[in-house]
Amino acid sequence: MSDTIDNSKPIKLNWINVIFLIITPILALIGSIWHGVTYGITWVEFSIFFIWYFACGLSITVGYHRLFSHRSHQAVLPLRIMYALFGAGAFQNSILEWCSDHRRHHKETDQDGDPYNATRGFWWSHFIWILVDEEDGKVDYSNVRDLQKDWVVRLQHRFIFSIGFLVGMIAPAIVGYAIGGIPTAIGGFVWGGLVRTVFVHHGTFLINSAAHVWGKQSYTTSNSSKDSLWLAFFTFGEGYHNFHHAFQADYRNGIRWWQWDPSKWWIRAWSLVKFNSNLKKTPKSSIKTAKMRTSFSKIANQSEHNHNDNTMNIFESRSDECISAMRESVRYLDEKRAQLRKSSSNARKIIVEQIAQTKDKIITINKEFQTLLDEMMHPSVHAGA
Ligand SMILES: [Zn+2]
Ligand SMILES: [Zn+2]
Repeated sequence: MSDTIDNSKPIKLNWINVIFLIITPILALIGSIWHGVTYGITWVEFSIFFIWYFACGLSITVGYHRLFSHRSHQAVLPLRIMYALFGAGAFQNSILEWCSDHRRHHKETDQDGDPYNATRGFWWSHFIWILVDEEDGKVDYSNVRDLQKDWVVRLQHRFIFSIGFLVGMIAPAIVGYAIGGIPTAIGGFVWGGLVRTVFVHHGTFLINSAAHVWGKQSYTTSNSSKDSLWLAFFTFGEGYHNFHHAFQADYRNGIRWWQWDPSKWWIRAWSLVKFNSNLKKTPKSSIKTAKMRTSFSKIANQSEHNHNDNTMNIFESRSDECISAMRESVRYLDEKRAQLRKSSSNARKIIVEQIAQTKDKIITINKEFQTLLDEMMHPSVHAGA
């Protein structure tokens, strides 16, 4: 895989970012070894590391990403303040700048306007794009006007570096000092500040690089985004990136209850005490039909050399029929399930019956669709049958 830098634009390094992104890992490594040898590591350092890791990590994934960039839900003031403070401590710039870049990433994924365009190579999308200033440091905020109405966002943008330094570096040292004096103050700074910054940085960077290279594409093949369980573990659930690119307004990235997505659980948990509201969820019918369309287009690409245009058109219209029947059935099933929850005991029997019939219908549509994909992949078997 090659990394390419657009030759038509002059390459200008952003020295602040270059120094910060290179110096921090070096200081983190030297600092943690020196501190460990000199004072030894205790539960204090590990606790401070994990608390800051979760606070800063979730402020990026839930706050910067799902709340501010995508408006996947609404959050009360104390939560927005928390995301602004610890998001600044994650050293990934202000909410305004991060969201402006991210909205462009979604609008023009894999194209020139995408700041971390994955087609320019793994390292470009991982972090070279941060080190290189292609736009002379001028950021276009026209796509984040809605966010500028929030005073929390405006204030954070104005004092981003001081807030970041105070919350991300000084605060873990103060907590360390309060618990164990100078040795744990240094430990807090090294583990909660430096080491944690490196982990949160590269966790986020992996979503722009690895989540556009490795994994499954179940919901869309129109861009390079992928779903990856192992990435979800390191990124508070953001590894289900193919689903996210297909349905970016959804507050979840891992949609099944068992899929590892702490950001989704965090949003949902605060909604139970009314701190979060208007959680956006993609209808099941849209998710199911997106999966079917994606399966069809993958098989169509693999098998098109086996079929003439006419046969492909017939396959396509059979697929369209299955997809629209599925959309209707899943919608109907959802409706009936909602009715069942509210219904009196007399009406329940009929609704239960309707649900059972719809489930049978969905099984039949699934079988028809699988047969269609099979015929496309193995035409000779079916011709002989
Ligand atoms: Zn992406
Ligand atoms: Zn996104």
